[in-house]
Amino acid sequence: MDSTTITFLGTAPAVPNAGHDAASFIVNRRYLVDTGWNAALTLRAHGLDPMDVEYLLLTHCHHDHYLGLPQLLFYRAMQRSERPENGGRAPLLKVVGPAGDVERVVEDTLRFLQIDRYPDIGVAVESIPLTPGDTFEDDAFRLVTCPNRHPVQGMCCRFTDKGTGATLAWTGDTAPFSDGAPQLVEHVRGASLLIHDATFGANPAPADNSYLHSGAPDAARLALAAGVGRLALVHGKEEKQEAARAAAVALFPHSFWPADGETVIVE
Ligand SMILES: [Zn+2]
Ligand SMILES: [Zn+2]
Repeated sequence: MDSTTITFLGTAPAVPNAGHDAASFIVNRRYLVDTGWNAALTLRAHGLDPMDVEYLLLTHCHHDHYLGLPQLLFYRAMQRSERPENGGRAPLLKVVGPAGDVERVVEDTLRFLQIDRYPDIGVAVESIPLTPGDTFEDDAFRLVTCPNRHPVQGMCCRFTDKGTGATLAWTGDTAPFSDGAPQLVEHVRGASLLIHDATFGANPAPADNSYLHSGAPDAARLALAAGVGRLALVHGKEEKQEAARAAAVALFPHSFWPADGETVIVE
């Protein structure tokens, strides 16, 4: 692949408006980061093929980030005849996620799909648990993780495309770096693109931040402190995205709120 791409499937918080989806995106048409509610069908809506997904990289295991996993596995099982080279099974989906939760989510997904009753649909999935701080490498990419700050175990990820050398980073849902997560600054330093939680829209995270999220100004301050190239804001209410974008741009001009289906080339 000549360039590194990222396509945003959804940018909403836990419950999206009709026609939108919770925060999720796909790198190089192959590495899906979180599923939102509807990743399989949303990929198709944007001309991407759910059969091409090699890895699902889960930032953490809150529902809005993995709800689409059963649908994705079912889709791939139903369409498995498209890939006869896999011997009657769907292409293997490798699910990388926080060690505390990913295996349970994958096992419960298989139970929900009643794989014991329908073994012949050929679901193929494997979990790869990481402890935040771990590095995971494939021939095509390197994923370096560090802990973020959220009520469940979560990972801030730094992804390097070995083909192009491009580096992007995403925080997952997190409290601001300035509120108990200083490790985020060095972890995302110099990334071409940073994708950051902006749950609180144009406002910074409030003092009473029990769900440990961020606002657009917090994201912009991290982008500045870490010297990233561009900042993409996600995980915010549709009605508040434009105000959030403007608040971030005032602090860090290379900020944007991606549209659903928007593809960005990461240099
Ligand atoms: Zn979330
Ligand atoms: Zn969360």
